[in-house]
Parts: sequence; C-alpha cells; structure tokens
Amino acid sequence: MSAAASESPSPLSIVALRCRACTAPLPATTGEDIVKCPSCGTSQRVVDARAFLDQIMLQVNAWVRQAIPMGMDAYASTTVDPVARQTVFMNYVAPRLSTEYSEYKFNLLNLLAHPLGVLPFQVEKGLPAANTPANVFLFQAKVTSVAPLAMDAAAKGSVAETAGAATAYAYLLNNAALAADTKPERYYLMAKNFSAAAEALKAAPKYAPLVDRLQALADLNTGLDAATNMKLYDAPSSFDKAKTGLESARGKVAADFDLAIMAQAIDKELALVRASGSIVRSVQLDTTGNAASSMTSMGRYLALLGNLRDAPYPQWRSRFADLSHSEELLRTVEDIRNAQRGSPAIRILPGNGTALFPFWAIDIPYTFQTGALWRAQGVEVTEAMLVAATFPLDANAFSGTDVSAVLTDVFMARERSGFFNDAMKRASGKETSISGGGPVRDALSKAQMAPAGAIKIVPPLTTGADAAALVQTYLLRVRQVDRTIDKQLRLSSPRVAGLVYAYGSPQGMAANVMPWLGGLAPRSVGDLNAVGAIAL
Ligand SMILES: [Zn+2]
Repeated sequence: MSAAASESPSPLSIVALRCRACTAPLPATTGEDIVKCPSCGTSQRVVDARAFLDQIMLQVNAWVRQAIPMGMDAYASTTVDPVARQTVFMNYVAPRLSTEYSEYKFNLLNLLAHPLGVLPFQVEKGLPAANTPANVFLFQAKVTSVAPLAMDAAAKGSVAETAGAATAYAYLLNNAALAADTKPERYYLMAKNFSAAAEALKAAPKYAPLVDRLQALADLNTGLDAATNMKLYDAPSSFDKAKTGLESARGKVAADFDLAIMAQAIDKELALVRASGSIVRSVQLDTTGNAASSMTSMGRYLALLGNLRDAPYPQWRSRFADLSHSEELLRTVEDIRNAQRGSPAIRILPGNGTALFPFWAIDIPYTFQTGALWRAQGVEVTEAMLVAATFPLDANAFSGTDVSAVLTDVFMARERSGFFNDAMKRASGKETSISGGGPVRDALSKAQMAPAGAIKIVPPLTTGADAAALVQTYLLRVRQVDRTIDKQLRLSSPRVAGLVYAYGSPQGMAANVMPWLGGLAPRSVGDLNAVGAIAL
C-alpha cells in the first residue's frame, strides 16, 4: 500500500480528553484524578472529562454520518483508493465544512479587528465573542476527524487552514472570556491560549502576520503575569519581545488585503505594551514603600480608570476605553514617580501647599469686537485656562451639568459679575485679552520642570484632549448664558498647552488649590475622598 494508506483515518483518532467547560483539548494526565484545563482554567475530574470526550465523539460521529451518507467507515479503511476518498471529500465533506467555517472566519476576523488585551486591575467586556469556544472546538474536532479524506495538496491545504483558524478562534474566545473577569491567573492562561492559537495557525501560511501578533500577545501576557505576581524584573524582557513581534505583524498586515483590518488593533496593543512598561517602572520607582504596596496603589488608580469606562456618558466612555488614553495617563504616573525621586520630571506652578494637583493648561484663541462693527482684522488674542485633570471625580463636571467649578472660569468669573461688559466698554483695540485669565497666564509663564520631594501628588485621570473637550462644553454654556459674549466673541477651538501641577492645601472637602487666583481659582478638583485615594 502507499504511504497515504498508512495513516489512521478513523474519527476516533481524537484521543485527547476534552474540557467540560470549553471543549478545549486537555493535557494527558498521569494517574491524577483532577485535571485543570490550560485554556479556561476549569478544574474537573478526569473521569468527567473522559465521559465528556465520549459525548463529543458521539456528536462528531453523528455529524460525519450526516455528511457522508455511505458512512465514514467505508472510506476510512486503508484499502480504499485515494481517488475515491478525495471524491468523497470534495462532494460531501468540503461543502459542509465551508458553510460552518465561513461563519467562524467572519467572526474571527471581526474579533481580530479589536485589541486583544486588558490592563491589570481592569476588565475588557467589549470584545465581540459571537460563538462559544465549545462550539468552535467541536467544529475543530469534526475537521480533524475528516482530515484523512483530503488527499490532494489543495484539499490538504484547505483542511489545514480550516482546522488552524478554528482552533485559534476557539482559544481566542476563551481569552475574550478571561479578559472580562479579574481571575488572578488570567494572564497566565491568556498567554497559554495566545501561544496555542499561534501554534495552530502555523499550518496556514496566509496567516503568518497573525502568528507574529498572537505570539507577541503571548509574550505580553507572560510579562503581565510576572508583573502582577510581583516578579517585576522578569516583565520588561517579555514586553520587549511583545513590542518587536507586534511591530513585525504591523508591518506585514499593512500590505495584506485580508488582514489590514487588524492594523489599528495592533497599534492599540502596542499602546498596551508601552502602558504595561510604565506600570512596572512606576512601581519600581516608588521609594515610599515596598513594591507590593506600590502595586496596590497602582491598582487603585487602574481600577478607577476602569470604572470610568462604565460611566453613563457616551462621550467619555469611548475615550476611557481607548488603550492609548491609558498609555498617556500611565506615562504621567511614571513622571510623578521620577519627580518624587528627585528628577525634574513634572511642571509645577509656583506656590506652596500640602499636595500637588494636576491641571491641564488650555489655550483658547479668540477674536473680539470692540465697536458696533467687527474690525477688519478683529483683535486676535489667546486666553489661558486651567482645567482640573481629575474632573471625572466631580459629578457635575463629568455629567456636563455644570463644568465651571473645575476650571478657571475666565469668561464668567463669579464674584465679578459684569466684569466682561466693563472690559468690553474699556476695550480700545490694543488689548491682548478682555477676559479675566491674565493671572493664569502669568502663573503658567512661571511654571518650571522640577522635582517634587516627598509631597503627595495626585495623578491625572484625563488627557489634554479630554480637558479640551470639557472646555468646549464650558464655552458653549458661556455663550448661552452671556449674550454679550455670544455677540462679541468669535471663539476658535481650544488647544492643549500641557499638564501642570499646582499646590493645594486640602481641608475638609475643599482642595484649596491656587489661592492666589482669588475668585478665579477652581472650586473643585472632584470628590476629595476619591482624589485622595489615588494620590501617590
Ligand atoms: Zn476549558
């Protein structure tokens, strides 16, 4: 007989036990009673896994009987002519496989268009898991059972691709479930699943860039597993491997018509790798306590950022769900830790107090009218504002109900009602500003990059882009309330000028930031209990 005939084409060739929870293959056991699924983490009795395998085989065999009316046995026999086998495969098996496979492939590609990672102390519930791992692992078992019928190169290639992609998809579905939960061992399991998915796809050459991506994600999760288990020194080398692998994948998918849909997701995964590096370095830089307590305070910060993803305000949800957003914020945490170790790593406004609070400096370019008519050129000026970078902890500001308390209210400053009208009357056309923000600009010009010493520092919860969006809301309200401003100002889009830290002296529920600004000082930096809980 030929070499092909020596294969063992029985559907019962799937000998591995299967997990009762997710149907993934289980490792061979050596006389133990309990086996733990390396894919979903479920522990089960070996005897139960064996009974479950029997159920799976009944389903696979029933499917085979339906697919091949004459029965598999007639063709599985090693004495059957390869041409007859190939004919059965093409006429009966391939059409059934391809119908089910095309659905899985579509859903797999949709899943791959999302970044497949999650920050420590957070959950990712937004991954599209359109199928259950059990159904997809069952499909993989069906493909494996009929694989011996594929005889020519094209059929073998198609079986390899189908089995590989289905297996990878099933492992990724388990990861989607793990990312939605904070199981302590999740990074360990996710690393195993990404590795298994990469391995499964090696038989399908068209998925080569995806193999790079999945192996890189395995490295990232290995690093995060080390980091969350306080093996901080082991993490960076895994992050470096992840970065190299993701960059390689990113380069390849850009030129790949089918896989180009992954490009943005890989960019976000690279942001996650950088954010993970910031977490580890920040914890290592902390000199105020031991590494475990430092990781705990990092955990409070990350958990709060995770909670903000669930805010009932759609305009903020998508921003906080973006991994680039987290990356930007975690870099500022690293800056704070460096400043506490004596490096001039953060920009501090002159003043004094018992804690430093983060503010975004925002420029608002505008043109104003000083007479009955708009001047030919108008008068171009720029106003400077400061926005509390912890404003999500102020319920009125985050909801958009009233944002005025968390910023330097330069156009409407309370206790100075009518100031704007007076300013307009005095205006002669030589002004650089007619709003009340002069003291803010003066202070910003004196801000310096500096070390911070032992003082408590509150990390920002928002990016400059978030603060600019809040200022847009503020300006809209200003124009609604004050018709003079609406008629006489032409406002341009706010521009982010940078992050600065200002001294405050918290007492009771008041942060008392920048008292030298008088009535212009922001009244709120958010709920002080919540703000204090994340101070570093
Ligand atoms: Zn399992």
